[in-house]
Amino acid sequence: MVKKSGKKRSATAGWEGRAADALRVGPGFDLGELDTSATPGFDGDDAAGEALMKRLGRRLSDLQEMLYAEGRSGGTRAVLLVLQGMDTSGKGGISRHVLGMVDPQGVTVRAFGVPTEEERRHHYLWRIRRALPQPGRIGVFDRSHYEDVLVVRVDGLVEDDPWLERYEEIIRFERETEAARITVLKCALMISPHEQLERLSERLTRPDKFWKYNPSDLDVRAKWDDYMHAYQDVFDHTSTASAPWHVIPADHKWYARLAVTQLLVDTLEDMNLTWPAADFDLDAERARLARMLEETP
Ligand code: ADP
Repeated sequence: MVKKSGKKRSATAGWEGRAADALRVGPGFDLGELDTSATPGFDGDDAAGEALMKRLGRRLSDLQEMLYAEGRSGGTRAVLLVLQGMDTSGKGGISRHVLGMVDPQGVTVRAFGVPTEEERRHHYLWRIRRALPQPGRIGVFDRSHYEDVLVVRVDGLVEDDPWLERYEEIIRFERETEAARITVLKCALMISPHEQLERLSERLTRPDKFWKYNPSDLDVRAKWDDYMHAYQDVFDHTSTASAPWHVIPADHKWYARLAVTQLLVDTLEDMNLTWPAADFDLDAERARLARMLEETP
């Protein structure tokens, strides 16, 4: 699209600066102050958001292909998108709508539920380590190791209070992950209790949504304040310079999806991906092809 000024619009038109600057958890962040219906950093409406989403989708697809090509050519880099949020916050929608815009063979989505018997026999990071993305891939964690300092804490599923120890352990784990050339992008989708009620009600009125409803969702909801307290602690203790948290107001699904897409595009852009050079003799192959074309009647 061309603006009246004749200048080409940038792929990020609509954002005031980088999305991460508006969403990153910094010192003094207070979850209690968050307006979950806001659209921080983006000055457009839903229609502008959707138009931008289309452009970003194309860019995301190109960048993902470059990452995949790098991985196929011996590169070891990968990206891990960690998604956290209360029930109905839209984590599943991110996998479908954002990652749905790229080639599925370059993406691995892993949802973490209640640990299986086998998983319970191991350290809580065991199942997480096994699910880290392979080189060239974008991995998505729909819930993650953070459940072990959220639901496990709120429901008192372990003895004592290992939280401070676990935050340190998680920071070390994420550092190791980054050292293994996997860039970690952490996003928490936050909705209001009212918005969650609307979404849960919808699950009970629409037959195409019944399958998503779980009676235990209402029990979790009853512990809302405990969860918010646990989330605040997670943000205070595990938002590091190399793997900061991004808190995304998610009452507007279009905004949450746009924000995650922009963060993912920016993350990939920052990796300075390039197409791998040919690992064969380009001139010789071109000459061979030219000969074949000549010989073809
Ligand atoms: P979702 O609600 O994300 O669509 P599920 O209905 O399978 O998916 O719910 C996953 C459940 O597993 C959530 O209630 C979550 O809190 C729980 N869970 C995830 N990780 C753990 C864990 N480490 N320990 C206990 N419960 C967990």
